[in-house]
Amino acid sequence: MEILKIDHLGIAVKSIDEGKNFWTDILGLQHQGSEEVAPQKVKTAFFPVGESEVELLESTAPDGPVAKYIEKKGEGIQHIAFRVKNIEAALEELKAKGVKLIDEKPRKGAGGAKIAFLHPKATNGVLVELCER
Ligand code: ZN
Repeated sequence: MEILKIDHLGIAVKSIDEGKNFWTDILGLQHQGSEEVAPQKVKTAFFPVGESEVELLESTAPDGPVAKYIEKKGEGIQHIAFRVKNIEAALEELKAKGVKLIDEKPRKGAGGAKIAFLHPKATNGVLVELCER
């Protein structure tokens, strides 16, 4: 599997409007686009940092994965995303190595990317996302 870079860090916040001020006003990052990913019940906002991005995640429903994460652990880093060259091949390779996956097949994420999540049980408790753009 070829990992190209850390694509983004996903950070769960209660409110993007309230949470983004630290990233923009204090750190000086540029807010570059927001998007709602309806099937994931999440609103996202992107802040590029060099070759990677910070992605703020706000739940759009009380039963969404981000709302559940905040309920359990509070706001904070929710996932780390690696950009891979070929996501289908990467998933096949992980399956062959016996890695537990949340997504056996890629689905559509923000920005038209193909994404898939690995199960935190297989990754020392870190929710790992693979993405291909
Ligand atoms: Zn992500």
